[in-house]
Amino acid sequence: MKAKLVKLPKPLEELSGEELERKRAIARVMTLTLEYLTSSLIREGYEWLLPVILSRVTDPLWPDPGASIEKRLEVEIYGVRVRATLSMIIHKMVACSLAYPKLFVLSPNIRVERRDRAWTGLHAYEFTQLDFEARGASSRDIMGLVEKLLRGLVEHLKKSAREELSILGRYGVLRVPDAPFRVYDREDLEAKYGGKWEVELARDIREPVWVVNIPRQFYDYEDFETGRWDNYDLYLPGLGEVLSGARREWEYEKLVKKMERDGVRKENYALLLRLAREGRLKPTAGAGIGVERLVAWVVGAEHVCEVQPFPRIPGVVYEL
Ligand code: AMP
Ligand code: MG
Repeated sequence: MKAKLVKLPKPLEELSGEELERKRAIARVMTLTLEYLTSSLIREGYEWLLPVILSRVTDPLWPDPGASIEKRLEVEIYGVRVRATLSMIIHKMVACSLAYPKLFVLSPNIRVERRDRAWTGLHAYEFTQLDFEARGASSRDIMGLVEKLLRGLVEHLKKSAREELSILGRYGVLRVPDAPFRVYDREDLEAKYGGKWEVELARDIREPVWVVNIPRQFYDYEDFETGRWDNYDLYLPGLGEVLSGARREWEYEKLVKKMERDGVRKENYALLLRLAREGRLKPTAGAGIGVERLVAWVVGAEHVCEVQPFPRIPGVVYEL
C-alpha cells in the first residue's frame, strides 16, 4: 500500500499535453495486456464468457480481511431485488461446474469502497477482474498458470510496447520474474510483520510472491482437520495484492457449516447450496486478477485509477 501522499488522478479534460501522452501510453499497455492475457487463456482452452452486472446473488465479500465496502448497491427490477456485482465468484463456480470446464470473464466489479481508500493508491470503486476458473484444477495448477501468464506478459510487453514503456520510464525497470515464485504462509508473515503484513511485504519483496493460507469467504477451501486454507494471493513488489484465488469448496455440509459460522445468510445462496446437495457442484480452482492493479504495476502508476480512462476514485465522483 502507498503512503498518504499519493496524488489523485485527474479526469481527462484536466490533463496537460504531457499527461495525455502518458495516458495514451498507458492505454497501449492496457490494450496489449488484455490482448495477451485473453489470447493466452484461449490458447489454454478457456472459454471467454461475458459478465453479468446485476444479479440476485453476488460475492458476500465477508469475512474478507481486505474488504471495506461503504455501501452495498441493490435495486429492484421486475419486482426482484438485484445486487451490483461485487465479484462473479458464485457465477464462476456454477458455470464451471455445470457447463464450461475452463472459463474466464472480464468482469466489472462495483465496490463502493470506503472513501479513505482513495489514498491507498490501490482502490477504485469500479474495476475489472480477469476472473478465471477450471474444473478439477489444483492450487498448484492455477499458480503455475499465473506464473506463466505473468512471465509471458512482461516478455511480450517489453517487445511490443517498448516505446510506451520507455515514455513511462519502465522499460529498464521491468524484468521477467523467475518462476516458480516464492510462497509465504500468511501465518509466518503475521509472526514476522504483525497485522500490517500486507503493506510491509509489498515494500520488502523484489519479485512477485505468493501468500497462501488466508482465512476468508466460505467458498475458498478449508481443511477442517488442520485449519489450513487452500488459497493463494499474488503480491507484486511495490504494489501489493494483485490476485486472489483458491481451490473451492464443493461439499454441501462444509458450505453450510461455514455460512452459519460466518453469519452469511444461506437463503442468499440457495442455488449454490442446492447444486452442492445434489452433487452437481464440482471441485474447481481459479483466481481473479485485478486488471487495473496489474497494469498500474507494469506502468509504475502511483494510483490504480490513473490507468482508468475515467478514474473511479473512492469518494471522488467526476462528471464522466
Ligand atoms: P478480491 O477477490 O477482493 O481479492 O479481488 C480480486 C482482485 O481484484 C484483487 O486482488 C485486486 O487486484 C483487485 N481489486 C479488489 N478490489 C479492488 C478495488 N477496489 N480497486 C481495484 N482493484 C481491486
Ligand atoms: Mg483479495
